[in-house]
Amino acid sequence: MALNRKITLNTGKEVDIVGLGTWLSKPDEVRKAVKYALENGYRHLDCAYVYRNEDEVGQGIRESGVPREDIFITSKLWNTHHRKEYVKSAVKASLKALGVDYLDLYLVHWPVSFINPGTPEETPTVPTVDYLIPKKDGKLQVESVDPLETWKAMEELVEEGYVKAIGLSNYNIEKISNVLKHCKIQPSMLQVELHPALLQTELVEFCHANKIAVTAYSPLGNNVYGEDRVVDDPIIVSIAKKLQKSPAQVCISFAAQRGIVVIPKSVTPSRISENFQDFVLNQEDFDAIASLGSRNIRYNDPGEKEWFVEIF
Ligand code: NDP
Repeated sequence: MALNRKITLNTGKEVDIVGLGTWLSKPDEVRKAVKYALENGYRHLDCAYVYRNEDEVGQGIRESGVPREDIFITSKLWNTHHRKEYVKSAVKASLKALGVDYLDLYLVHWPVSFINPGTPEETPTVPTVDYLIPKKDGKLQVESVDPLETWKAMEELVEEGYVKAIGLSNYNIEKISNVLKHCKIQPSMLQVELHPALLQTELVEFCHANKIAVTAYSPLGNNVYGEDRVVDDPIIVSIAKKLQKSPAQVCISFAAQRGIVVIPKSVTPSRISENFQDFVLNQEDFDAIASLGSRNIRYNDPGEKEWFVEIF
């Protein structure tokens, strides 16, 4: 498989099938990681307002010297900005932090809304944890916002040139169908957790049938909670050994071979390079990897782990 393989979005624009994730990349680390990745062939960056490091990502982009128009940049609308009057201020904050004047893709990060503790005009470029996870008497301040209100405001961002494409993250088939039924502009992308131990087959088939591309997050099985990682699974490790590849390369190639965009995060130069080298798996190895799917492991389940409350 050639490097830099691309898929075409329903807007007609292409995106590299392998991009760089930036969640939990610390200040300074992420600047260097982005610079290194861009200098070594990456042209696709996955960012989010809630990662609180978009300013550093922007610095890395500028230091790399790679022209803005050669890079595909995704960011995400956080849960505090779902009301229509907050959506534009959120994208403006991300654009300012990144130092760019448009995004290639903007996703609704989660289908759950939090009460914004400020006004749209007060949206900070790099937010504090208290701003992102508003609590009162220790209780998370959730609110109900019609997802179609948010989607309409997302569509306006495309019409006004802030973003080239819009999409969803962590939405299930029912929630995506609701958007599809009422939208003027179709979602171009769904980003969800996906790896050999969580195949998301039905969701992927549904999206592809509706011309929505899919991005796999946590494709290596992050080690945020210290669980056994999918890259350490004996089946993955033995296939990697046999093929003289790394376990991460096996997981990344597995997603890419399913036509799924994949955004491994690393701040380690050797791993950033390693993760950019995908290859073709034969059917026998592909099937053996897919057999892990019966485990249905979720490394990021806010319901069970309240990760968005614990991590920042
Ligand atoms: P990943 O599956 O990408 O795993 C990241 C971890 O794996 C890091 O600890 C990294 O360490 C390590 N790692 C990277 N490369 C290798 C390698 N070759 N061999 C062994 N270990 C490796 O997890 P993420 O959860 O970070 O997911 C990737 C990206 O997806 C995020 O960064 C973010 O951009 C996005 N995401 C989106 C979410 C959403 O809700 N839409 C939720 C979660 C993630 P190190 O950096 O030290 O090298």
